[in-house]
Amino acid sequence: MRYKIPFNKPNLAGKELSYIKKTVELGKISGDGYFTRKCQEFIEEKFKAKKCFLTTSCTHALEMSAILIDLKPGDEVIAPSYTFVSTANAFVLRGAVPVFVDIDPLTLNIDHSKIEEKITSKTKAIFVVHYAGVGCDMDKITKIARKYNLFVVEDAAQAVNSRYKGRFLGTIGDFGAFSFHETKNYNCGEGGAILINNKKFTDRAEIVREKGTDRNKFFRGEVDKYTWVDTGSSYLPSDMLAAYLYAQFENLNKIQKIRKNIFGYYYKNFKSLEKSGRLKLPFDSDSRESSYHMFYIILPNEKLRDKLMNALKEKDILAIFHYTPLHLSKMGKTYGYKKGDLPVTENISGRLLRLPFYNSLTKKEMDYVIYWVRKLINK
Ligand SMILES: *Cc1c(COP(=O)(O)O)cnc(C)c1O
Repeated sequence: MRYKIPFNKPNLAGKELSYIKKTVELGKISGDGYFTRKCQEFIEEKFKAKKCFLTTSCTHALEMSAILIDLKPGDEVIAPSYTFVSTANAFVLRGAVPVFVDIDPLTLNIDHSKIEEKITSKTKAIFVVHYAGVGCDMDKITKIARKYNLFVVEDAAQAVNSRYKGRFLGTIGDFGAFSFHETKNYNCGEGGAILINNKKFTDRAEIVREKGTDRNKFFRGEVDKYTWVDTGSSYLPSDMLAAYLYAQFENLNKIQKIRKNIFGYYYKNFKSLEKSGRLKLPFDSDSRESSYHMFYIILPNEKLRDKLMNALKEKDILAIFHYTPLHLSKMGKTYGYKKGDLPVTENISGRLLRLPFYNSLTKKEMDYVIYWVRKLINK
């Protein structure tokens, strides 16, 4: 089903196709080629990350983090339930148990004031998610982590080029994970990156990412052959994908500006609906400079949300909602969670609606969406 105004649309920012061609001409289309290095250097310089490795996805960057901090069966990891499944699966794959914490109704990020009560002697890490590109309160979270000696992993899938008090998200915890999936701000179809902010993990990260071998040391001439030295998998993307991604990075400021304008235009035009109590607008604050990954509205209840979503479909506009809270999913329930455990998460997930948002979204298209949202909501 194609919509006149789809929810998302990938678009070329500049030299993607000629850069892909260049990888073929350079004779190296596997991982860790010319453009992979360019992307990694870009992330390290622009976002001031100590070390970055491109990965095949954000999911894989999160999995790598779980391997690097040596999570074992029975360890507990604190995370929001209001998130994409990969945030939890990354550590569940290692046998760790998710301990879900409710969200703050203002930012929809993990509510830091509810973290401490969930910490036990088995707690090993906190996986936070910067929802919609707005940073969690990292000062508070870092303080709790220090107090209880926990690792912090930032799922910054939606927060590439977002800041918290001036620092880029993904560079504050022990690890940060970026997504370059087609639906994200800067993309290459499928892709991600792990940011390593705790230097002691860099060497091992290189090995885990290369199937558990010291192949990179071999390429640098540091060992005369490479072998199996650790657990690991294949987490490096083709250089063709990195080529596509680098072309997007070259347009980082332009894309940021476009997204900020889209967000601002929706915001401005829905302000009066918020004032009259018909909906709630997303969090926006200069102290947590966002990547403007998405624009959502929060309706008074689930029935109105679903009604609006379906009515928009009839007008050829695809608006969608997420997430089914992880604690109420089939898997979540196997850990003993039930309805009522996380009231804010359950309440918000039934009322949130995401509007079409992509870099090539025109003012005319936005006007069409705004017109119908206003009209349908006032019915
Ligand atoms: C998109 C997303 C992911 C997964 O990213 P992939 O690159 O597709 O693996 C993980 N967490 C959050 C919060 C996301 O939005």
